[in-house]
Amino acid sequence: EIQRFEAFRDQPARTADGVEIKLRANIGLMGDVAIALRNGAEGVGLYRTEFPYMARGDFPDREEQYLLYRRIVEEFGGHPVTIRTLDIGGDKALPYFAPPQEDNPFMGWRSVRVSLDHRDIFRTQIEAVLMAGVHGPIRLLFPMISSMEDIRACKEVVAEARRHLRAAGLAAAEKLPLGIMIEVPAAVYLSERLADEVDFFALGTNDLIQYLLAADRNNPLVARYFDPLHPAVVGALGQLAQTARKHRIDLCLCGEMATEPMHMALLLGLGVREFSMAAPFIPRTKAFLSRITLGQAEKIARTALGFGESRQIREGIRKELADQG
Ligand code: PEP
Ligand code: MG
Repeated sequence: EIQRFEAFRDQPARTADGVEIKLRANIGLMGDVAIALRNGAEGVGLYRTEFPYMARGDFPDREEQYLLYRRIVEEFGGHPVTIRTLDIGGDKALPYFAPPQEDNPFMGWRSVRVSLDHRDIFRTQIEAVLMAGVHGPIRLLFPMISSMEDIRACKEVVAEARRHLRAAGLAAAEKLPLGIMIEVPAAVYLSERLADEVDFFALGTNDLIQYLLAADRNNPLVARYFDPLHPAVVGALGQLAQTARKHRIDLCLCGEMATEPMHMALLLGLGVREFSMAAPFIPRTKAFLSRITLGQAEKIARTALGFGESRQIREGIRKELADQG
């Protein structure tokens, strides 16, 4: 079966009727780069930089981060690499940065909230990204944005980082696309305004589903409540795809849900054209895409949007896919 998918590795991802889809890789540690390249990823849709931070004894300095990011963008030979700033807290801790005791870590001091409270660490990382951006197409991504104030504060740190590099006589990428994760429900409701502030959206369905449905993404007791086909999730994703299209803003979905063909069909029909996933799923996703037309996917999305229960949505998608053979 692996060999059957092999054939798709070096081909672009497109639907049966020729619509081009971008499939990029989610990466964490350096080893993921080779896996991404081997599986034909067109760049990186999500680089989780907390992983290199976690795998060491202290905060890496700017030079170290710069060299790492530069090496990665060079490996991808012209394809964009989306670097997300530190996303610690929640379930991810750094061994040398003791998290506070919190009753609700996922609703607490995590991700960009930590970065904004530790400007020095934040600015150092952004400086490294700007420096690496001189060597290839890098995009900078901020996680857990829940307000306009958040993104404006992040952009201020980018401006500070630029000033700091300039004062030191160091080269920084002139233009570096800035984006935000849409993973807090507030960001879905604010997406029209947020679109004016950034160049791209990265749709983080792992957290977005968790927060929309109040179901911990890691708790097996509520696993059945964590439901990518819940009508509220389907509605939110459809709305976001529309906003992105209207504002001509790049949208890439980087949550785990895209690796399931039923979900992929739905997302395609809702208007998502770019996905980032664990790279081993890329060849089989291409194989699936080559068998479905955009019209079929759009019919699936219309059907799904018409139902009020996840069970009906699931059955509806299954039936449409079965009818298509
Ligand atoms: C997400 O939240 O969907 C996401 C892609 O980011 P992470 O899994 O790192 O939280
Ligand atoms: Mg997330």
